[in-house]
Amino acid sequence: MDQGHQVSGSLPELLFADYGGELSEKIMAGYEVVRPVTLRFNTLKITAEEGKNALKEAGFSFEEVGWYSAAVILNDCTEEDIRRTALYEEGKVYLQSLSSMLPPLFLSPKKGESILDMTAAPGGKTTELAALSRGEALITACERDKLRFERLLFNLKRQGAGRVTALCTDAAFLDDLFCFDKILLDAPCSGSGTVSPRKTARIDALYVERCARLQEKLLRKALKLLKNGGEMVYSTCSILKRENEDVLRHVLEGCGAKVVPVEPPAGVPLLPSADGTLCVMPTAQYEGFFLAKLIKEERK
Ligand code: SAM
Repeated sequence: MDQGHQVSGSLPELLFADYGGELSEKIMAGYEVVRPVTLRFNTLKITAEEGKNALKEAGFSFEEVGWYSAAVILNDCTEEDIRRTALYEEGKVYLQSLSSMLPPLFLSPKKGESILDMTAAPGGKTTELAALSRGEALITACERDKLRFERLLFNLKRQGAGRVTALCTDAAFLDDLFCFDKILLDAPCSGSGTVSPRKTARIDALYVERCARLQEKLLRKALKLLKNGGEMVYSTCSILKRENEDVLRHVLEGCGAKVVPVEPPAGVPLLPSADGTLCVMPTAQYEGFFLAKLIKEERK
C-alpha cells in the first residue's frame, strides 16, 4: 500500500513531519479555540447591506470581513441565536466558516456556465456558487450519501438556489460524456484543519492515506469531466500535505492540467504550501483549509 507515504503515526506526528515543531504546536493550539459564529448573506434573497441592517435591528453586533462583503463575524452569539431568527428561517443567511467561503470565490461562477459541485452536501458551497452567479449558472450538485443528500435538497430549497440539478450518486461513476465549464471538488477528507481537540485521536496516518486515495480518484475523475481550457478548484478542510499537495502532484503529473496560482485574500492566516496553492492556518477566526485552482490545458 505504501508508496513512500507515512502510514503510521498520530495527527501530532503527521503535523510535525509537515510543519516542524513550532508551527505544529501553533496548529494544535488553533484546534483549542472556540471560534466566533460566522455567516454569509444569501444574495439570491437579500443584499449584504440589507442583511447587515437586519442583523443590527435584531440586536446582533458583528465585524465585517475585508475580503468578502457578504460575510460577517458575529460578536457574542451562538449558532442557535442565529437559527432562531427570521433571516435564517427564510434562507437569507447561511451559517458557514470563513475558510469554507473561499473556494466558490476562486471558482468565480458566471451566468450560463455549467458547473459541477462534485461532493456537495450539505450545500454551503453549492448555494454560494448559485448566489455568486446571481442564480444564472447551471449547477449540478452531486452527493453520494442519502441522508446528506436530503440535507442538500433542503438547503437548496431554503436558499432559493433554483437552477441546481441535484444527483444522489457516487461522483466517481458519473458518465464521462458529461462535460463541465468549471468544477468544484471540495473533497471528503480527514478534517485535520477543523478537528476538535477531543477528536484528534481519530486522525492517524492510515486514515489520512485512505482519504488521499479517494481524493486522487475523485480528482482524476474531475479532470475527465472538465472541458479543455476549463478551470476547477480542489479543496479540503485538511492541512496535511498528503491530502493536498501530494494528491495534486500524483494526479497532475502528465495529465494536461496545472495549478493556476491564487492570490491569498488580505488578512487570511496562511501556512506554508506549494507554489500557487493556499493553505489556511487554524486560528481564532479561521478553520484550517486548503485550496488550489487548476486549469485543464487546451488540446493542440
Ligand atoms: N461542499 C460541501 C459544503 O460546502 O457544504 C461539503 C462537502 S464534504 C467536505 C464532502 C462530501 O462528499 C460529503 O458530504 C460526503 O458524503 C461526500 N462524498 C464522499 N465521497 C463521495 C463520492 N464518491 N461521490 C459523491 N459524494 C461523495
